[in-house]
Amino acid sequence: MDLPIDEQSGRRRRGLLIVLSSPSGAGKSTISRMLLESDSTITMSISATTRPIRPGEQDDVDYHFVSDAKFDAMIAAGDFVEWAPVFGHRYGTPKVPVKDALRDGRDILFDIDWQGTQQLHSAMGEDLVRIFLLPPSLAELERRLHQRGTDSGEVIGDRMSRAAGEISHWAEYDYVLVNSETESCLADVRAIVAAERLKRSRQAGLVTFVRDLVGTRGAA
Ligand code: 5GP
Repeated sequence: MDLPIDEQSGRRRRGLLIVLSSPSGAGKSTISRMLLESDSTITMSISATTRPIRPGEQDDVDYHFVSDAKFDAMIAAGDFVEWAPVFGHRYGTPKVPVKDALRDGRDILFDIDWQGTQQLHSAMGEDLVRIFLLPPSLAELERRLHQRGTDSGEVIGDRMSRAAGEISHWAEYDYVLVNSETESCLADVRAIVAAERLKRSRQAGLVTFVRDLVGTRGAA
């Protein structure tokens, strides 16, 4: 099957699976939102979760909020490309949208933890680009969690105690960025995406392009 035409290069290429992981409070949601706003060819993967919906969240937009029984049924049906327990609840990435996006040559962004990233890497290998965001310091991470104003002191304490565990997986990622300043971190993420799209292995359309390029000379 022919791969779709890339809007930027006009040539055929494979879709990209972009994973963004970080401890909570390192700016992952902000960077994800800005990346999606700045590049309409990237789609966000919507995970299923058993955790309760939070104020301000929308079902089937932020997550597919499902019961434990439904999550069990989805696992049994093989609906997930990866799933993992995180903070006492289960989270999983539905398989079908990922397959569809790759088939259509679209890029997908995943906000998943290190466990999901490992599983996605085993399942999707070369289509995956793994980016980890670090906070400039743990003090700054705690300050951002307080500033966000969405969590109680107890929850913030819990997130801080988990942060070191999450950070310990930084070396499993292809790119590691220190998010000291949002705009420059976003610029770095966009540069990574641009370079990854240009990798020769992803530009399936180059073969015919180069054949056409040298074709007339070869025939002369
Ligand atoms: P939250 O409940 O705050 O939205 O997310 C908690 C954590 O779960 C975050 O670190 C997020 O990256 C992770 N997460 C969200 N969706 C998935 C998923 O589908 N799979 C995995 N493995 N982790 C997820």
